[in-house]
Amino acid sequence: MKFDFKRLFSKEILERGRNYYAEDRVSNLLKKGNTITASVQGNHRYKLTINTKNHAYRCNCPYEGQMCKHLAAVFYAINNRKNIPTAENIEKNLAKKSKEELIRIMQEMLAQEPKFNALLLSKEKQILKKIEEIDSNDDEENWAEFYDYIPDRVEDILDEIKCLQNKQELLLALLKKAQELNEQYDHHGSTEDSVFSVLDELNDEKKRLPKKDAQKIEECAKKILGDEYDSFTQEE
Ligand SMILES: [Zn+2]
Repeated sequence: MKFDFKRLFSKEILERGRNYYAEDRVSNLLKKGNTITASVQGNHRYKLTINTKNHAYRCNCPYEGQMCKHLAAVFYAINNRKNIPTAENIEKNLAKKSKEELIRIMQEMLAQEPKFNALLLSKEKQILKKIEEIDSNDDEENWAEFYDYIPDRVEDILDEIKCLQNKQELLLALLKKAQELNEQYDHHGSTEDSVFSVLDELNDEKKRLPKKDAQKIEECAKKILGDEYDSFTQEE
């Protein structure tokens, strides 16, 4: 990268990022067009996106300032690693493989990372599984912050559902889960926001459907939210 990324960070953050990089916490560097994505292992495993063209930098950690140590670590990695794999190259290489070779590669990947088994499920089942696992937390140190991640996860799943034809069932499953979490975390602001996001999407869906189907969705939502249905659906 030509420009001097160091000026984007405070001295302290830069130093911490450099340590993270030195401790080999940056992984999954991948370039696609002008966007570089990466993961950094901090208290959680964070996902980062760096757009080199419009200089937009994103990390999904809860740090309040703009530029966190995870971003600094990724900049160090970009600067120091000679070859960052590109999505275009990976696609090209995959296209050259025979079906047998691809199956062998898949089998090896599945043996190393059993969670990839989920990719063999239908898209709907994959999403249902993600909904089930929204509150699985592989890092137990940080339960206190955990609910702050719920809206992000809900938004990610909503984005996936939006691309599908039949959304209602998944949206209702997500509403149910969001409300369960909302109750479990005692109506924390961010868990409430998640319920609202799903309801917004359901409302859009209702507008697309015949009246009878829209009513059915409404009834299901009522059942899921129970006594709280009114408080969630009252217009401000
Ligand atoms: Zn961060």
